[in-house]
Amino acid sequence: MIAEAAPVSTHDKEFNPWLAAEARFNEAARRLELDEGMQKVLRTPAMEVTVHIPVQLDDGRLEVFTGYRVQHSIARGPAKGGIRYAPDVTIDEVRALASWMTWKCAVANIPFGGGKGGVICDPSVLSETELEKITRRYTAELVDVIGPERDVPAPDMNTNEQTMAWIMDTYSMHKRTTVTAVVTGKPFQLGGSRGRVEATGRGCLFVTLQALRRFHMEPADTRVVVQGFGNVGGMASKLMRAAGMKIVCVIEWDGALYNPHGIDITALAQHRKEAGTIRDFPDAEAIDPKDALFLECDVLLPAAKENQIHSQNAGHIRAKILCEGANGPTTAEADRILEDRKVFVIPDILANGGGVTVSYFEWVQDRQGYFWNEGLVNGRLEEIMVNSFKDVTSLADHHGVHNRTAAYMLALDRVAFAVKLRGIYA
Ligand code: GLU
Repeated sequence: MIAEAAPVSTHDKEFNPWLAAEARFNEAARRLELDEGMQKVLRTPAMEVTVHIPVQLDDGRLEVFTGYRVQHSIARGPAKGGIRYAPDVTIDEVRALASWMTWKCAVANIPFGGGKGGVICDPSVLSETELEKITRRYTAELVDVIGPERDVPAPDMNTNEQTMAWIMDTYSMHKRTTVTAVVTGKPFQLGGSRGRVEATGRGCLFVTLQALRRFHMEPADTRVVVQGFGNVGGMASKLMRAAGMKIVCVIEWDGALYNPHGIDITALAQHRKEAGTIRDFPDAEAIDPKDALFLECDVLLPAAKENQIHSQNAGHIRAKILCEGANGPTTAEADRILEDRKVFVIPDILANGGGVTVSYFEWVQDRQGYFWNEGLVNGRLEEIMVNSFKDVTSLADHHGVHNRTAAYMLALDRVAFAVKLRGIYA
């Protein structure tokens, strides 16, 4: 189970990510008493581009795919954010995700704005060659939009190191020189950074450890439920287990596994690699995925997709800490329910900032042409995640607001400050 029984459709008001982003923005702007004009500047995306991508499929047919790139803000630096491939990508979704990148980079205090891209396609039915063609033509259409000083894409849902290698190559061919810093999340051999693949999961670990400290909880007594066993959920559970926590449940789209003594994550990853599914894993009990999200636990880590915790199911959540590994896993309407239930939420724009933070390190390394070892990357990542956690939670304590509102307040204030300093060019 990834999507719960409720009518999860981006056409529904509650499930429209752009409206969800707006609701959080409005609350923080009101608390900060930001003036109307500044609110307009901050909420409006700086640029939105739609491209149509003609591709010859393997069977000879011509198909045209639609792609987007939204630069939400460039006030604090180049736009930064991933590209996702999915059949249900919408401009509202890309717009929301681009704005979340702006706030995420501001919370981490790294010198980027926010952007996001998406292509409407179903990678599960496309061959490697077809994906390469889509990626290269999408990049060629955006060659004047992206760039190391303008807008730096990265992987997101259904894109990976190989996708980034194609983008880097296509962009470089157009520029007649190799430009590694145009994308992050590249293979290490092409200017990628050590630790980038693990970075989002590792960042989730660092902020979760901070939350445990706050509640005087020990990792060894911590039960974790993870939704999603992809890059973020898979890495986070591996690293959390290595830190002593028990991963009692893993939920995937095709099943859920439960073991109160903790699942052996390395063995599960191996099983999934061989079997292509988490089902039939011998060392855990198969449970109904519909109930798994509601297990009593210390940490719930939604690391799949948007809108998983909503007004219909938030009342059943029995986690002490919610660490949002995915972007937008909780709807704005669910926020209030979780607040009433006293769930300690580590909001997405804080919790999953580890990925873009190491992307920033990658960009710095590419521009310097000097590469860091993994210890240095992870140490600097920890410093940023711990500082971000402290910045957000101190602001929350100071203003008597919840962490999500505090994170947005911190981010809006930092971006508004940059806009004021730069002034409005006319
Ligand atoms: N797609 C990731 C995110 O949503 C990473 C973005 C990046 O590294 O630019 O944070």
